Order: sequence, then structure tokens, then C-alpha cells
Amino acid sequence: MKVVVLLGAPGSGKGTVAALLVRREPSVCHVSSGDLLRAAVKRSDTPAARAAAEAMRRGELVADAVVGALVVERLRTCAPDGILLLDGYPRNEQQAAALERELARENSRVSAAVWLDVPEDVLLARLGGRRICSQCAAGYHVENMKPRVDGQCDACGGKLIQREDDQPERIANRLVVYREQTGALIGWYESRGLLVRVAGGEPSDAVADRVARTVVS
Ligand code: ADP
Ligand code: ZN
Repeated sequence: MKVVVLLGAPGSGKGTVAALLVRREPSVCHVSSGDLLRAAVKRSDTPAARAAAEAMRRGELVADAVVGALVVERLRTCAPDGILLLDGYPRNEQQAAALERELARENSRVSAAVWLDVPEDVLLARLGGRRICSQCAAGYHVENMKPRVDGQCDACGGKLIQREDDQPERIANRLVVYREQTGALIGWYESRGLLVRVAGGEPSDAVADRVARTVVS
């Protein structure tokens, strides 16, 4: 299995680009830690799930063990000869080390870490206008990626909502957490010779083209 990690701030377009790549290249197995967490929080009401929901509302990181277990369970469902695209995981050095150990058990390793580098003003505009489908979690934007019918998901007809963590003060907190914790991963992968920087401030199709060159090659 070829493993590619997508790195980037909240709003850098990891999920959008991943969805475009899956559409072009169906052998890509897209694993989004944020989607896994939102689904887990919706379906279970355990103390761990409640703590995760609270961390997500505040824009803080969910406990490494909780996210790690969800991601590992999910990546076992990906075809062993396909391409694994990790979106949102790892998010700190502990998670990167845990991923390395997990992949080593399968005689595999990360083959590239693609960093979507996006200017902060673009991040803020994207996050503030982001909407997601309350049913299938598909992503939209009030200006850049409008649904065909206002407030309604093109794919399933579900109602579009604003994520709680996309409120302005939560956004600011997520960017701080990103800079303090996830930012360090850029150097982590760079020192291993795996970092590929992609300018991510342009429309998603153009960014997806550039990412595709690393992921599918
Ligand atoms: P974004 O990248 O735009 O912040 P995500 O959907 O990837 O959005 O993540 C939403 C929230 O889920 C994060 O703010 C965090 O609370 C939690 N989360 C996602 N991935 C991880 C992770 N790898 N480790 C810890 N928490 C995570
Ligand atoms: Zn939908």
C-alpha cells in the first residue's frame, strides 16, 4: 500500500482535495480523521466520545489514543494494493510516530507528506464560509463551492449546516493549535526527506492537479 499524508492548516483544503482525487482515481482510499471522529461522536455516547466531542467543539485535539484507534480500524478496510490518503492524521509528533509503528507492522511506511501551504487570509475566508451536509458530511462553501439548491446537499439532499468549530472564535483557536502542534510535523517529514510543499491558495481543481502528481505517480 502506498501511503500519502496530507498536511495543512484547518481550511487548507485537505478534505476537498482528497475528495477530488478519489473521484479521479478510485483506488485512492481517503481516510479523514475529522470525519471518523464526527461519525463516532454521533453514534456513541461513552465518556470518551463525549470528551472527544468537547475537544472538537473547542477546536482542540482529541486524545491521541482515541483518534489513533479509529484511524487504524478504518485503514484496515482499505485495499492493501491501493493508495492510502491520510487527511487530518497525524496531527502531532506522537501520532506521526504511532503511525510509523503501525505501518511498520504491515511492512509499509509513509511515502510522501504533502503540505498544502495556504496564506492565513485565505484560510480564514474558507473556514468562515464553509458548510457541510448534516447527512453525508460533503463539504461546500457559500461562495467558492455553492450547492445547486441553496442550503441543500447536491449528493443526498441533506440540510447544509455550519460546523460548530467553524465559528470565528473557534477558528482562531484551531489555527493556534495547528501552529503549535501540527506545524512541527512539517519539519518532521522534511527531515525524513518526505515533504512535498504544494501552494494551496488557488482553486481546488488546480491544487488537486498538483497533489495528484505526488499521490498517483
Ligand atoms: P480541520 O482540519 O478543518 O480542523 P477536521 O475535520 O480535520 O477539520 O478536524 C476537526 C476536529 O477533529 C479537530 O479540530 C480536532 O478536534 C479533531 N481531530 C481531527 N483529527 C485529529 C487528530 N489527528 N488528532 C486529534 N484531534 C483530531
Ligand atoms: Zn449530503
